[in-house]
Amino acid sequence: IIVVDSVSKSFGPVTVLSGVSLEVTRGSMVAIVGRSGSGKSTLLRCMNALEEIDAGTIRVCGHNVDMADRATVRRLRDDVGMVFQSYNLFPHLTVLRNITLALTAVQKKSKAEAETVARRVLGLVGLADKEAAYPEQLSGGQAQRVAIARSLALNPKVMLFDEVTSALDPELTGEVLKVMEDLATGGMTMVLVTHEMGFAKRVADTVVFMHQGKVWEAGPPEKIFADPQTPELRQFLSSGL
Ligand code: ATP
Ligand code: MG
Repeated sequence: IIVVDSVSKSFGPVTVLSGVSLEVTRGSMVAIVGRSGSGKSTLLRCMNALEEIDAGTIRVCGHNVDMADRATVRRLRDDVGMVFQSYNLFPHLTVLRNITLALTAVQKKSKAEAETVARRVLGLVGLADKEAAYPEQLSGGQAQRVAIARSLALNPKVMLFDEVTSALDPELTGEVLKVMEDLATGGMTMVLVTHEMGFAKRVADTVVFMHQGKVWEAGPPEKIFADPQTPELRQFLSSGL
């Protein structure tokens, strides 16, 4: 469902991605791990046409990702949901309204229809009782689950997650990981950048270790964690990140 082929990208003189190739099959979860600055976020942003690539190709849900092709980018955004570390909820809107906004404004659904969808996705993330709350009344974990629900409401085929638990206290991390695990179990295709090695090991189908803008090693978690082939990955795993 996602094919990244020989993608390179530089910011000025700095090469951030260098010949990156990877595939994500429908219904699978790919976890991207690696040191700070290794290009993980940039790769994810390239998949969702938030960054221009200099070379190579990216296909997502049948779309040839090209930032310059506005019509394709629009269709891509219909198929791909993305959640970041900062959840960016609208502070002056209730939880329900945060979720229905795009449904009514962009997808032109009626208010009643949008609210039905919003309540369904709030149920999925375990926050059915919070629809009338404002973002400031939520814990970080709850706010992040609302952000995930908001993305799910648009019915994406693929979800991209960039360190969605990094800003959370350890006790709140678990509830967000649980939501992502449920999504994976439900068959969602997911790519996530994470520092949660235990989660990646347990839930991911494939783990991709990025180093210096390259896919340094990739494989099933058993292999990546138990039998690293390169000193770089061995060192990364033993650094306790
Ligand atoms: P982290 O784990 O800290 O989030 P990362 O693996 O996600 O790191 P990226 O954010 O992809 O890393 O950044 C990779 C490199 O690209 C870094 O050296 C960063 O400074 C550089 N970079 C990222 N975005 C830009 C930008 N908009 N302009 C210039 N350089 C950038
Ligand atoms: Mg990053």
